[in-house]
Amino acid sequence: MSGAPVVEGWRHVSSGKVRELYVPASTADVAGATELLLVASDRVSAYDFALEPPIPGKGELLTRLSRFWFEQLGDVPNHLLTPSGTTTPVPDAVAARSMHVMPLRMFPVECVVRGYLVGSGWAEYQETGSVCGVELPAGLSDGDRLPEPIYTPAYKAPQGEHDENISFERTEELVGAADAASLRDLSLAVYSEAAAIALQRGVVIADTKFEFGRDADGLIRIADEVLTSDSSRYWDAVAYESGNRTDSFDKQIVRDWLSAHWDRTGTPPVLPDEVVERTAARYRELIERLGA
Ligand code: ATP
Ligand code: MG
Repeated sequence: MSGAPVVEGWRHVSSGKVRELYVPASTADVAGATELLLVASDRVSAYDFALEPPIPGKGELLTRLSRFWFEQLGDVPNHLLTPSGTTTPVPDAVAARSMHVMPLRMFPVECVVRGYLVGSGWAEYQETGSVCGVELPAGLSDGDRLPEPIYTPAYKAPQGEHDENISFERTEELVGAADAASLRDLSLAVYSEAAAIALQRGVVIADTKFEFGRDADGLIRIADEVLTSDSSRYWDAVAYESGNRTDSFDKQIVRDWLSAHWDRTGTPPVLPDEVVERTAARYRELIERLGA
């Protein structure tokens, strides 16, 4: 695709909403690639739109968060390659916002775990009393902590289409019963481990989304970005306990501004400098809090 930055030694293969994917320039056939470079841009997406302008430093901050969590969750197999296991160097210019990873066969499931009822989960609960087929107790309010974390998968729609919340049974049809159960169990375990670590540092992980893939040996690995402020909702624990449920470290600032200034028809308006700066500052603060 045009517009993607040139990375020396690498060939661009596709653009996500936020990241660019590259294979080594010497790769004849993309499907046969043994290394993949995921380069995070400063783009911010909300409601399936990449917004203007980008958030300065965001790609680097999110990459740092992913690396931090991959390290914290050392027991969970992940997609990072160690430098000794690679042949194509990553240029310094993009190193801080790149992940050098194994190409995996990705499951078409966004593995969402919710510890708190908020966003689309809250919306669905108000209509049906459940989220993705998971029955919840009556009388819960927006932002409430759930009795226990729940797994609410979504179908990862092809580029340009909306991801769609699905039932666990639907994931069994998509990937088979055994893998569906593995994805659920892994997601819940990783969320609980990470949420406990974050809470010790004064931060609530309200919900998050994981992606998994299978490597050439058949092992399921956690892939993509992990527990970044793009894939997760992070709240200040002290503010939350004192009843302030709007104090977030993620792109909620952007979503809130958009909801107030855009009716979700046509293209979204350009974000004002103040929103861009506040979002960048919150991302940096999260990194400091977590010690990432
Ligand atoms: P969004 O995250 O905004 O919904 P997106 O997921 O399409 O959009 P990006 O996150 O920008 O786009 O792009 C990353 C892409 O790389 C995703 O499609 C993800 O599934 C894929 N991916 C991540 N890790 C791997 C891996 N190890 N092997 C193969 N594909 C991967
Ligand atoms: Mg993504």
